[in-house]
Amino acid sequence: MANGLPKVDLIITGDRVIDPSSGLDGPAQIHVTNGKIVSLSDDLSLQSASRHIDATGMIVCPGLIDMHVHVYEWVTNFGLPADDAGVNSGATTIIDQGSAGPWTVGGFKAYVADPAITDVRSFVSANVAGALMGGMEGIVLHNPGMMRIDAIVNAALDYPGFVVGIKSHGETGGISHWGTEVLEMAIKAAEESKLPLYVHTGELFPVDEKNRPVPASLMEKVLPLLRRGDTVAHVYSNMPDGIMGPGDKVPAVVRDAYASGIHFDIGYGINFSYRIARSMMEADILPNTIGSDVHADFNCYHDDSKLDYSLCGAITRLCALGMPLADVIRRATLNPAKVLGEENMIGTLAPGSRADITFLEPVEGRWILSDAEGEVLTVEERFVPSRVFCAGVDIEPSKRLLRDIWEWENTLAAE
Ligand SMILES: [Zn+2]
Repeated sequence: MANGLPKVDLIITGDRVIDPSSGLDGPAQIHVTNGKIVSLSDDLSLQSASRHIDATGMIVCPGLIDMHVHVYEWVTNFGLPADDAGVNSGATTIIDQGSAGPWTVGGFKAYVADPAITDVRSFVSANVAGALMGGMEGIVLHNPGMMRIDAIVNAALDYPGFVVGIKSHGETGGISHWGTEVLEMAIKAAEESKLPLYVHTGELFPVDEKNRPVPASLMEKVLPLLRRGDTVAHVYSNMPDGIMGPGDKVPAVVRDAYASGIHFDIGYGINFSYRIARSMMEADILPNTIGSDVHADFNCYHDDSKLDYSLCGAITRLCALGMPLADVIRRATLNPAKVLGEENMIGTLAPGSRADITFLEPVEGRWILSDAEGEVLTVEERFVPSRVFCAGVDIEPSKRLLRDIWEWENTLAAE
């Protein structure tokens, strides 16, 4: 006992602790016992603990939650190792978007999620099989004949807390073949299973050119179907059939959807455009959540050698584009936890929550990061995960997949 308080397992003292759920942004102490946070206080007088960690100089925040990853390795041709996308990249919880379908999600849980250190969840694909071959066989895999609403409902019942949503598509290829039929079936399944929907946007599947929809018409077809709390992905993508559309003004249907409570996820990935990001930010359309969309190469199983973007890379870029760090952290912690309805347990440093904590090291120096259009952004500060706690377990991230913000050859110093 010290100061009348019971001894705890671990105390972390930081000079900048950011906890969006309480609004804290400053010096604080986090007390951890039995894998749970027992207190968060700006009183820095040292209590009695088995272990004390001084995190001075670090940004200490709730364990990051990546809203969009692909980690069904070997079964899909673009899956990453779960812990490389998770704890080794600074994220204590990752949400796989549609790699598994209701007929393959059992294997995903048993062989990928359960053995991982990272907390892995699934937004199960609207089709029965999952993504398997990415976009390439989309017309075969994702057509209406591959949909079974009852299979999705059963997956949600069989794996509560693991199947936490449904992944569908609002993209040109599928709509050119079967309109919004699959999306409407996915919404019906979402209603019956009481799960949120996550919708990919932009061209992905092979297009029936005779029926190619006008790019600006895509969001007019898709967004009015979605419900409050559903998420659209790739909101700062430069695809003409994406959220922004082909113009340089945010369309009214997009503003209306955002105002009505449809969530916008960065879904960072390969089409992220600084130009689009600036236009959307000027229109006050900020992402609700930050998913990285990290995945391995298509066409070659288990090859992630060219992956050059990451969740912490997206965090770094959004800060460089002018979003305050605390606002960015909120979108990679508390907000995705709310999508899962688990904001009391993850994405927070509140007492009683799981001791998932990420240390981000602010690395200063001038770095050049390019976007999908080849535009370059000079970044003065990168946020590199230096340590994570997963339910109180101390882990040093390997940073193997953080090539965009960590490996020297990919982050060339500006002249
Ligand atoms: Zn994706």
